[in-house]
Amino acid sequence: MALVTGGNGGIGRGIGLGLAGAGARIVIAARDAAKTERVIAEIKELGGSAVGVACDVMRRSDLELAVQTARETFGGLHILVNNAGIVGGGPPAEIAEEIWDRVVDTNLKASFQCAQVAFPLLRESGGKVINVASEYALFGSERVLPYSASKGGVLQLTKSLAIAWARERIQVNAIIPGWIRTAMTAPLDHYPPMRDLILQRTPAGRFGEPEELAGAAVFLASRASDFVTGIALPVDGGYAIS
Ligand code: NDP
Repeated sequence: MALVTGGNGGIGRGIGLGLAGAGARIVIAARDAAKTERVIAEIKELGGSAVGVACDVMRRSDLELAVQTARETFGGLHILVNNAGIVGGGPPAEIAEEIWDRVVDTNLKASFQCAQVAFPLLRESGGKVINVASEYALFGSERVLPYSASKGGVLQLTKSLAIAWARERIQVNAIIPGWIRTAMTAPLDHYPPMRDLILQRTPAGRFGEPEELAGAAVFLASRASDFVTGIALPVDGGYAIS
């Protein structure tokens, strides 16, 4: 049983399909019901099972409903994927408090809250938490400072929860996606200089596809990673080492 926040599009969809292919039953927690229905249908076409729950990760009561849905529909929860995320920023001296709060709360606070809400079920199952970070957790950014700060926080959240919950047999790890082709990065198509810079700097010479995050997620969600905790696994075509 896996709960994937933001599982109705982009990387969350890629991870959800991968986990379903490996046999997990999926709860998709996101806001856009039509997108959620489409991904549920895809998972079912592949022979998997999935349900959706309307969830704004900024609301703790929605996170509670998502976890409750996992328990009531599938009897428990083994895997939590904190994937829902947004990007935002601007010149640092001009960033509005509202932007800071929205980005940091969605990417960082919600990941903590969801893990906290899921903890009782994860403790029962000896479960797995997978947090989706970013290259901007490693590198600073003058353009998307709140995003970079929030994702840096996601790595520290990962390490701290990993230590705190290790004796509960819960592993907490992160994935660091490189530049992946999703709605979040689609605007780069209209900004060739930056897109070309990314392609030049990525040793693989291309953007990744959302489905390419599935392998890392399946590993970190499986018993094969029972002695792996607190790590951040890049899936980035070599971007972080170049
Ligand atoms: P998308 O914009 O394609 O998808 C974001 C997903 O998050 C959507 O499914 C959206 O669903 C959901 N979401 C956003 N806000 C909320 C909210 N408040 N409550 C619930 N769900 C929410 O982005 P990506 O797939 O690219 O990004 C997924 C994750 O990967 C993010 O954490 C992002 O930071 C990270 N990432 C992406 C990279 C990339 O190159 N694409 C690189 C590094 C990290 P809905 O709108 O229906 O709620």
